Amino acid sequence: MPESLETEEESMVILRAEHLVRYYGKGKNRIYALNDVSFSMEKGSFVSVVGTSGSGKSTLLHIVGTVDRPNKGKVFVDDNDLFSLRRDKLAIYRRRHMGIIYQFNNLLPNLTVKENILLPVLLDGREVNAQYYAELIDILELRGREKFYPHMLSGGQKQRVSIGRAMINTPDVLLADEPTGSLDARNTQEILQLLKRSNREFGQTILLITHDEQVALQTDRVLYIEHGQLVNDEQIK
Ligand code: ADP
Ligand code: MG
Repeated sequence: MPESLETEEESMVILRAEHLVRYYGKGKNRIYALNDVSFSMEKGSFVSVVGTSGSGKSTLLHIVGTVDRPNKGKVFVDDNDLFSLRRDKLAIYRRRHMGIIYQFNNLLPNLTVKENILLPVLLDGREVNAQYYAELIDILELRGREKFYPHMLSGGQKQRVSIGRAMINTPDVLLADEPTGSLDARNTQEILQLLKRSNREFGQTILLITHDEQVALQTDRVLYIEHGQLVNDEQIK
């Protein structure tokens, strides 16, 4: 491939993970949750990571999302070497540029739907983009429930609120750790449609972790992880 084309492709990469290693324990008890994982993601792509329980999926997501640190390796977003940032700078970077959805939503019980979604913006002392917020509420089908507290919501609705919270800052990358893991088939499909829509309509770059290959096959590209290593990288669309 000519050099110029290669450079052009390079410029579309939004996230790059290089030789990530994460281990736990010492000596012969040491286990490698991640053992030399490298991949990159293009801006606007919808990528999934599929693997069985214990294969290292959550570890990978937490490191890419910078809530955990690798023993070795680097993560770049928009060519920023994230783990070279000071801890306080990294926390701000994370809040402004990364959106994380956890398997079991971690909504704050004493805050309303609206307050939970707006939390990252309010923590930053920034102004809310009211139009974008309203759009999100419609897409998430949470209109009329903005004053509800988490205990008043169904599992699917709670997960939609955590998606809203992860998206409110229009993150460079949306990271989702088995967001449908605790939902029934209908809610699983609804959440997937929602992620697809945010990918298409907002050009949102998404990394979705799942143990369900049928879910993974609905994304653009599937990375297969086994024993902390990427063993396959399949372009779907
Ligand atoms: P997955 O999300 O694919 O189920 P994880 O990333 O949670 O897998 O875990 C990968 C491996 O790392 C597993 O063997 C798990 O037991 C181990 N592991 C994860 N977190 C810890 C921890 N805090 N201490 C020790 N081992 C851990
Ligand atoms: Mg996991």
